[in-house]
Amino acid sequence: MESTHLTSKNLEDSFSCLYKVALNKDNVIGEISDFEKMHLEIKQNISLEYERYLISKGVKRDDLLLSNAIFTEKAYTANIVCHSSKYSIKFDFVEISDNKLVPVYISPTISLCRWHKIYLTCLSILLKQINDNVSDYGKIISKENGRIKVSQVRFSTYKKEAQSKLLIDIQTTAKFCLTKQCQICEYYTHCYNKAIELDHLSLLNKMVSKKL
Ligand code: SF4
Repeated sequence: MESTHLTSKNLEDSFSCLYKVALNKDNVIGEISDFEKMHLEIKQNISLEYERYLISKGVKRDDLLLSNAIFTEKAYTANIVCHSSKYSIKFDFVEISDNKLVPVYISPTISLCRWHKIYLTCLSILLKQINDNVSDYGKIISKENGRIKVSQVRFSTYKKEAQSKLLIDIQTTAKFCLTKQCQICEYYTHCYNKAIELDHLSLLNKMVSKKL
């Protein structure tokens, strides 16, 4: 997404629909769906719980963590946004382990997909542009059976895919096509109306029905 000002939302959306990223880039107003709202709420609750967990382990919050040259053990920062001319990326958490920065992604879903791991690897590449001292693994935090679950992700496994993801040209790659997942997307009404207007073939997909 070289020519797009990259945000965490754009990057995350690019795994489900590049057309969504293009709409977002063009400032098209959508309407956040109940499903997306629920995901945001779950993510917020897991974040609060994970922060309490870190504090209970004696880990201290340090919001200057990313600009530190020398790290103190047992520190974390949360909801930190890193800016450059090319991106504004929010990290759910960044922790210190073995004197290296460990990016952490809070997942609202129980099952972890490959894209979660590629996404976190993309974050590690961007984090490295700010502070070279980044760990070779990150963490995905989810909740399973009422308990916090920590999954480690080795960046070397997903590095190539993450690098290609960061280089995608949205303008030429984004294609309009309705799919099953459209019904939980903030741009559903916009895209459904566009499909009607174009008499688009993807309307034939029986799973895509007008939202009531
Ligand atoms: S409604 Fe479907 S096609 Fe439109 S942006 Fe959302 S996911 Fe993409």
